Amino acid sequence: GAAIRLRDLVRRFRVRGSVTAALDGVSLDVAPGEIFGIVGRSGAGKSTLIRCVNLLERPDSGSVEVLGRDMLALDDAALREARRGIGMVFQHFNLLSSRTVAENIAFPLEVAGISRAEREARVREVLPLVGLEGKRDSYPAQLSGGQKQRVGIARALASRPKILLCDEATSALDPEITAEILALIRSLRDRLDLTVLLITHEMSVVKQICDRVAVMQSGRVEEQGRVFDVFTRP
Ligand code: ADP
Ligand code: ADP
Repeated sequence: GAAIRLRDLVRRFRVRGSVTAALDGVSLDVAPGEIFGIVGRSGAGKSTLIRCVNLLERPDSGSVEVLGRDMLALDDAALREARRGIGMVFQHFNLLSSRTVAENIAFPLEVAGISRAEREARVREVLPLVGLEGKRDSYPAQLSGGQKQRVGIARALASRPKILLCDEATSALDPEITAEILALIRSLRDRLDLTVLLITHEMSVVKQICDRVAVMQSGRVEEQGRVFDVFTRP
């Protein structure tokens, strides 16, 4: 079955009496091991959609299945457990400036109550995956943008997720570093058998890395398919 299965998702926001449907009936299947992109302009609903996968955002209606689990049916403890299997990478990295690289990577594990010894083992496991062995005691301010995002990726990997959600993960980076981070994400997908769902406003990102793509506009999926089929039609 699908790694991520979304059906008929609706999410409305009411702002000063007027209602916006950020999601207006979205259905998608992301297959295990694929890199699936959601592309669209600002306001299309991409961020709301990706946040529905780990229920950072709750849909008003519709269903969210991740690795065969009905996410909306889980109690709090089961949801926390399910979220550990879903890593997330952010546009602005979300690093804590007063903590080192190793401490940033370990932070969500610490919050989850994982022992110091296990946190240390996980940090040693993920640093080489992102090529930052030499930076474990550096602070975020001492790192380049690309290195900061490698820390963000390492933090996401530290809980050994099967799914990686990337929220405009390269939008704050210049094109050369973007290409480098996308190549890293692809190689991690291959090595760790990850399923990747990413959102971006940049077509070039989709063309560089995605297997399939959905184009969103006004809370709806306008079309979806293999990148080649969606973007090479006249
Ligand atoms: P995108 O990620 O494609 O830019 P979003 O999912 O952020 O799109 O937003 C989709 C629509 O929903 C926009 O019109 C946005 O203003 C609205 N929206 C998103 N989040 C909220 C919120 N918390 N409160 C009110 N409106 C929101
Ligand atoms: P934003 O509003 O910038 O999108 P969030 O609300 O997603 O930020 O996150 C707030 C803070 O929580 C971040 O600064 C980050 O340190 C932490 N955080 C959120 N999600 C994660 C995560 N998956 N792993 C580690 N830290 C996280």
